[in-house]
This record gives sequence, C-alpha cells and structure tokens, in this order.
Amino acid sequence: MSTSTLELLPEEGLEPGFAAQVASYPGGEKIRRCIQCGTCSGSCQMSADMDYTPRRILAMVRAGMKKEVLSSQAIWYCAACYYCTARCPMGIKLTEVMFALKSLALKEGYVSLKQHSPAFYKSFYEVVERYGRMHEASLIIGLALKTNPLDFVGLAPFGLNMFRKGKIEILPHGVKNRQEIKALVQQVQRLEVR
Ligand code: SF4
Ligand code: SF4
Repeated sequence: MSTSTLELLPEEGLEPGFAAQVASYPGGEKIRRCIQCGTCSGSCQMSADMDYTPRRILAMVRAGMKKEVLSSQAIWYCAACYYCTARCPMGIKLTEVMFALKSLALKEGYVSLKQHSPAFYKSFYEVVERYGRMHEASLIIGLALKTNPLDFVGLAPFGLNMFRKGKIEILPHGVKNRQEIKALVQQVQRLEVR
C-alpha cells in the first residue's frame, strides 16, 4: 500500500477517543509509546497477508481511524504468536491489542459472527468449553454451521484422508476436570466482551 495511512481518511472521519478506548483494554496501556520503528511488522509472519501491517494498525489506532481498524482483516489474521510483543523495544503488548481490537469489532458490530474468522474463534471457544480440549471435526462442523456449509464441502476428502491416517478423531474425547476448563473459558469470554 503506497498511500500514507493518514491520507486515507478525511479528518472528519477520525475518532479521537479511539486510542483511549483501546488503551483501556488489558495490554493496551502503552500504545502511546509506539515509535513506529516497524520491528513488529518485520517480525510478523502474517504481515504480508494483512491489509494493514501491525505497525500501521498501531498508527491508525492512535490517529483515531476506528472504522478502518475495526473493519480490517489484519486483526483477524493475527495468529497470536507473540513475536511482536516479545520484540517491541517499547514494551507494547501488540498481541493483546489485537485481541482487544477483535473484541471491540465484535462488540460494536463491525464484523458479523457469520464471517469466517470471528466464527472460527467462536467455534474454537465452544469446542474447548465443551470438551476441555480441541476436537477438529467439531470445530469444522461448528464453523460450517455458523457460516456457509457449502464452503466446506471441498474439505471432505482432505478430512477423510486425515481420519484414515489417524491424524483426527471422529468422536471427541473430553479431559478430566472439564468443569474447570469450562469455567476458565467462560471467564476469558467475560473479560473479552466487556
Ligand atoms: S515494535 Fe513496538 S514501537 Fe515498534 S512499531 Fe511496533 S509497536 Fe511500535
Ligand atoms: S502476535 Fe499477531 S501481530 Fe504479532 S507477530 Fe504474531 S501474528 Fe503478527
């Protein structure tokens, strides 16, 4: 993207309170310290596929470009690898900021749970809450039902192959102390949708 971030939006579209809103989330406290060094973007394995790099997302948050940030696919492409957080020279917890942005995007209606990335997160939570661990077949079925089942028909031969090779299980196996995991997942959800 060659155009400067700040040239993308007329001033009247900016929301000056957006940075403070993001800063109020756990991990967002230090966003004003960003020196735009680009270490996060250079470290990010997903950066090349994002519509805005992590460095740019931080700049846009601080500029008040709420609509652009919360509508971006970049926040959903973040794989939560924590590489940017570990390498940021200013101690900014960018991974947590990405979580906060996802949460805000959902809460304020910038994305729908019918879209693949938010639906994936929701299905992931549901499976872990139910079984205390991941069960891939349930995850994919949940995702298909939340979005468009036809999108997943092409995956059937791949899934069958994985099953034949013993890489995935048809029936889920829960863990012991499932109630503790369930309580943990519910607490995380409460914190995220605050
Ligand atoms: S590494 Fe840290 S200081 Fe540098 S651009 Fe990214 S968030 Fe800002
Ligand atoms: S946590 Fe997200 S933004 Fe940071 S380096 Fe990993 S994928 Fe990129």
